[in-house]
Amino acid sequence: MAVPAISSIFKRTRVSLTATYLGIIMLLSLAFSWVVWQLSMENWSHDFGRQKEYLERQLPNSPVIDRLLAQRLKQIEDDELRLIGSLLIMNVMILGLGGLVSYLLALRALEPIEKAHLAQKRFTADASHELRTPLAVIQAENEVTLMNPKLTLKDAKLQLQSNIDEVGRLTALSESLLHLAQAEKNTLQVQSVPLSKVIDTAWNSVKKEAKKKHIPLLRESKEQESVLVTVDQSALGEALSNIFENAIKYSPNEAKITVTVSREGSMAVLQIADNGPGIAADALPRIFDRFYRADSSRTTDGGKMKGYGLGLSIAKNLIELQGGRVDVRSQEGKGTEFFVTIPRASE
Ligand code: ADP
Repeated sequence: MAVPAISSIFKRTRVSLTATYLGIIMLLSLAFSWVVWQLSMENWSHDFGRQKEYLERQLPNSPVIDRLLAQRLKQIEDDELRLIGSLLIMNVMILGLGGLVSYLLALRALEPIEKAHLAQKRFTADASHELRTPLAVIQAENEVTLMNPKLTLKDAKLQLQSNIDEVGRLTALSESLLHLAQAEKNTLQVQSVPLSKVIDTAWNSVKKEAKKKHIPLLRESKEQESVLVTVDQSALGEALSNIFENAIKYSPNEAKITVTVSREGSMAVLQIADNGPGIAADALPRIFDRFYRADSSRTTDGGKMKGYGLGLSIAKNLIELQGGRVDVRSQEGKGTEFFVTIPRASE
């Protein structure tokens, strides 16, 4: 069975939602009209009865009574016609206005679903683009190597090594993509943990790279780090290690990374600062976007630092899922500071 295009599903849902809302509005309007009609009829017949009684009492057996009552009946018929006209106009107006209101309500109800769908579509397009590029590189390199009639064992080994490197990058990319797609609130296991423990785990995961570049982690507020936070330890750890990883990756050898912890009401604020190249002001608002890479991710020799522009969007996603926030402040040539604000546990 053919699956209808998503745009036509949205269109049909919009129409059926509009029809449902309009149906409810018209049902209420018709019920109201019926009540008004019934009450008016009752009123008129009650009045007519009382007037008839009164006339029969005041003018017994007078031939005038029939004429007066006939006149009154004619008035009532005119009133009935007027009421029917008014109710008809009212219902037609409600039909028009209700149609418009129902359509707007249907648009509003579907808006978040359409937005989520668009975001998903963009994500899939970006992800497949990112996956295609390294695959094309692997294919082109392998074809060139195969066509070389003087291929030596050394060339073949070099090519295999390059393949392995690209496959490694692809694996890392697909893992990041999976993380982005799977991270949801209900998969988190939130508990009270000392912030220092999460910082230690995150730093340990990037320590090797830091050592290679002789970059130490300076801890400004050791006693503050004992602060307890309510988080999913591994999710926050991953977010922090992405921030640490960037600080190491983009800073020169022998740079410094500093962490400072402070309490702000019911939240703990963790500041991670580096004295690396900083981020240009125009790039700053976009660094948390998926697949965005600023110019600072280019090395001075023209090459590009490893990465897919996913690290910070994963970090932001994970931190926000835990009721936290991440902000950044940076100055080109001076360094970058990330502020991770997360809920504190009662101590
Ligand atoms: P990636 O590092 O894979 O490019 P991220 O999402 O982790 O992707 O980061 C997005 C961009 O933000 C990076 O490309 C880099 O330009 C910039 N950036 C992030 N952290 C830093 C930092 N500490 N110093 C300088 N630039 C940074």
